Amino acid sequence: MRSLIDLFRQRLSSLLPADLHPTERLKLLTPFRHPLLISRHRAGLIVDRVRLFALLFALLTPLWGIVDMLAFPFPLWCQLLALRLLVCAAFLSLLLFYREHGRMADAYWAMFILFIIPTSFYIGSHILLAHYQLEDLPAAVAAGYAFLPFVLMAGLALFPLTLLENLLVAVVLLLAQGIAGYLNWSTLNWPSYVGAFWLLILIAGVTSLACMSQLAFMFALLHQAIRDDLTGIFSRGSGQEILHMQWHTSQRNNSALSLAFIDLDHFKEINDRFGHSRGDQALRSASQQIQSCMRSSDSLVRWGGEEFLLIMPDTDMTRARQALERLCRNGFGSRPDGTPLTASIGVAERYYDRIDQPQALLEQADQRMYRAKAAGRNRICAL
Ligand code: GH3
Ligand code: MG
Ligand code: MG
Repeated sequence: MRSLIDLFRQRLSSLLPADLHPTERLKLLTPFRHPLLISRHRAGLIVDRVRLFALLFALLTPLWGIVDMLAFPFPLWCQLLALRLLVCAAFLSLLLFYREHGRMADAYWAMFILFIIPTSFYIGSHILLAHYQLEDLPAAVAAGYAFLPFVLMAGLALFPLTLLENLLVAVVLLLAQGIAGYLNWSTLNWPSYVGAFWLLILIAGVTSLACMSQLAFMFALLHQAIRDDLTGIFSRGSGQEILHMQWHTSQRNNSALSLAFIDLDHFKEINDRFGHSRGDQALRSASQQIQSCMRSSDSLVRWGGEEFLLIMPDTDMTRARQALERLCRNGFGSRPDGTPLTASIGVAERYYDRIDQPQALLEQADQRMYRAKAAGRNRICAL
């Protein structure tokens, strides 16, 4: 039984990208606790896809008016055309004027607007069509209107969404289908309606798999792009981006932001005495030691060879010093000869140092790190 469960688990995980970290698998289910950098990239990607979708719909919606004109009697085609032009204007406004600022809330709003436009059109067109008894070709064209929820549900597969987000949108689309059924209650063809509803649920299932697999590949690609190969922590480029994001968040929320510059002591000696690969090992274990005692909201960056940056949002100078003292007590691992590996740390805080630029915060922490070196290494300098 146990080996069967193991086999099942192994087969399941082989469906995901190989370099997807186990903690990131849970992040495929809900959007909570996604790192800021990931959310920012995901928000940008979602809004770009919304624009693509909006462009496509802005072009196709009025074009279909020609088919309406040929198939439907006056004034039905005219009313539908007016509705289509309104929808086209709404999609164009979304395409041209929607701005995002790297927040998931912006992405959710964009998706909400994108889906609410055709859903309203779907309900509006059903109300108009319900007034007419159509036969032959007009009836066939009118039946085509019933496909809109399927197009939207399938279109959802374009977005890198978590399971929860996907289910929420799918429920809204199923509700719209339910409302359309309610509006046509008296003339409803029950077997085909139930069949269509079931088909929509099946498409929702396939779509959620597509969304999650897109998200998984996005995570894996971002993981490779933003991490340092040797230690697996953030690389310098992504560290810059995180520092700027945290700086703007702390400005917006009037909250503290501390930054520690950590430089390992006499590291060159490890390479010189024991070889480069032992040096690499020491670097990996030092970064693991730091990670093991920092908060989940903190970000650790490999700034240079044996230099790290610890970005601590919502942390004032007193709490930053306490956290760094704890870090030093926990240690940075040991050198190959068994003696402890130590570090010199400079720390700066936005309010405490009255700093108005992220670059100045970095320079302040860097200068203090050099002061810690000059004062004898293996210490924290906050002045
Ligand atoms: P200090 O206490 O003054 O900081 O001395 P240090 O030896 O740590 O500083 P120094 O700047 O003189 O040397 C840093 C060394 O870090 C030099 C380089 O060989 C080593 N280093 C940088 N990147 C890597 C790496 O990726 N792997 C290994 N093994 N060593 C690295
Ligand atoms: Mg150095
Ligand atoms: Mg050093």
